[in-house]
Amino acid sequence: MSAVLAPAPPAALQTRELAVGYRTRRQRRAVLERVTVSVAPGELVCLLGPNGIGKSTLIRTLARMQPALWGSVELGGIPIGSLSIGALARRLGVVLLSDHEVVRCGKGRVQFTNGTSIEAERILLASGASIDLLPSLPIQKRKGHLLITDRYPGVVSHQLVELGYLKSAHKLTADSVAFNIQPRLTGQLLVGSSRQYGDESREINHAILRSMLERAIEYMPCLKALSGIRVWTGHRAATADKLPLIGPTADPTLFLAMGFEGLGITNAPGAAVLAVDALLNRTSVIDAAPYLPSRIQQEAIHA
Ligand SMILES: Cc1cc2nc3c(=O)[nH]c(=O)nc-3n(C[C@H](O)[C@H](O)[C@H](O)COP(=O)(O)OP(=O)(O)OC[C@H]3O[C@@H](n4cnc5c(N)ncnc54)[C@H](O)[C@@H]3O)c2cc1C
Repeated sequence: MSAVLAPAPPAALQTRELAVGYRTRRQRRAVLERVTVSVAPGELVCLLGPNGIGKSTLIRTLARMQPALWGSVELGGIPIGSLSIGALARRLGVVLLSDHEVVRCGKGRVQFTNGTSIEAERILLASGASIDLLPSLPIQKRKGHLLITDRYPGVVSHQLVELGYLKSAHKLTADSVAFNIQPRLTGQLLVGSSRQYGDESREINHAILRSMLERAIEYMPCLKALSGIRVWTGHRAATADKLPLIGPTADPTLFLAMGFEGLGITNAPGAAVLAVDALLNRTSVIDAAPYLPSRIQQEAIHA
């Protein structure tokens, strides 16, 4: 018996050893390299990463808005550079909204400050600690301070966290500090952390900063001799039960991925899985129940 294997259909999108970034007359500066990705027709892909890592540059390169530094991009098996503008437009749609602030969202529409709006069957609200778009969300802002030191390679090799960190992090009312230090590849040390309620400003609170650093020095006396080069503050989005809100709301077009408090970066891969599965209305490999916004009274989260 013989079997004839049909050739596999070409990937909807295929990149090989792609490098994206910027060229000057003399050099090429890659922000993202060795991107080899194959996306099947109908497959949904979530591109996730910290600010400045090259996500938008990659999207612009895939959409032929800027040239690749090296490597290849194919759409449906055809090199992107050889598609006519018409053929490209039939295969590709990109909406970059990075400089558009949203003023309203829900009921199938997202409105921007510049007066424009887009319609969408499903909207994912993931605006961090900024809850102005849905003020009724049961989220409180918790301010935090971080300090970064000069370069001291070898002083700390791994992250150290005070055992009482979780306990102090779970206090819902009082201001608190707990020791947490993370070494960076540069040899710099990131020292934290503080938690404050009711302070929406970005200003540094020197009393809190002092007690945060005293706490850190209690655990690592050698920190006293090191120089800090920058201190900054940010706000964490806290829910009453300390779990994020991920999933549908009473508005069938509006979904949430909010309320990650101090673990949004750590939890991002799992949160993305839950959010995509909620948007596609499919069962997730992660139990979605503990994170469903419906555990909070629905009237509290109407747009
Ligand atoms: C001091 C401090 C230390 C932390 N340390 C850690 C840590 O060690 N590990 C960890 O995992 N997490 C840490 N976190 C928490 C982490 O930073 C957050 O949980 C995480 O960033 C939340 O991600 P997010 O996507 O929900 O929100 P964000 O990262 O805040 O993203 C929300 C995005 O929405 C945009 N946005 C908001 N409103 C609008 C609007 N109206 N229109 C358009 N865009 C809008 C914002 O510009 C932003 O880009 C820390 C936070 C702080 C403050």
